[in-house]
Amino acid sequence: MALVSETTVKCPACGAAQRFRLVMSVDALKDAAELGALREGTLNLFTCPCGKSAQLAGRLVFTDSARGFFCQVCPGGAQQVDEAKAAFAQARLSGTQRVVPTLNALVEKLKVLDAGLVDWAVELTKTLLLASLGPDALNRVLLFDGLEPGNATLRWLLFDEAGQRPQLVHSPLDAYTRGLEAWRPFEPTGEVLVDRRWAVETMAKVVAPAG
Ligand SMILES: [Zn+2]
Repeated sequence: MALVSETTVKCPACGAAQRFRLVMSVDALKDAAELGALREGTLNLFTCPCGKSAQLAGRLVFTDSARGFFCQVCPGGAQQVDEAKAAFAQARLSGTQRVVPTLNALVEKLKVLDAGLVDWAVELTKTLLLASLGPDALNRVLLFDGLEPGNATLRWLLFDEAGQRPQLVHSPLDAYTRGLEAWRPFEPTGEVLVDRRWAVETMAKVVAPAG
């Protein structure tokens, strides 16, 4: 059963307080309802009778032992990330271990898993895609959305400069597949933060002259 914390949440708009069940763990094999809500973006979504809704940022442990994927959501910055790394080191899990800052970032990792792709190569592909959009595009939010096997493309959601209004964009699967081969030497081992920053730093090594 999902680990849940009973808490009182005050609406940021009208101030009304309500009891809230904050989900702190999701096991993909056992917590079907929570997993469904996570994928739909409604997990830990606070809604007030006044109309205000907001996703509550809390730590969450996600486990998918069937697929060997373990992820900790740490919205609280560096200290939480260090604690998550220590927890992983202690648990000695075999499989992919990741730390992400938001539930959205976790959902993106799940979509990558669902598509049968690997996240680090998806992140590297992402930097190439953003670079192709222009020099200022590297900071834009681009989320992997799915694989379209029929036309061999990857589907992405590209947000505008303000992080709003996502647009669907497509890229050839081929660029990912060829990249996966070429980038093998840069595959992260023991790295739990495989994100934009990791990808930008790694891509700098990929394109650096050898020697
Ligand atoms: Zn309210």
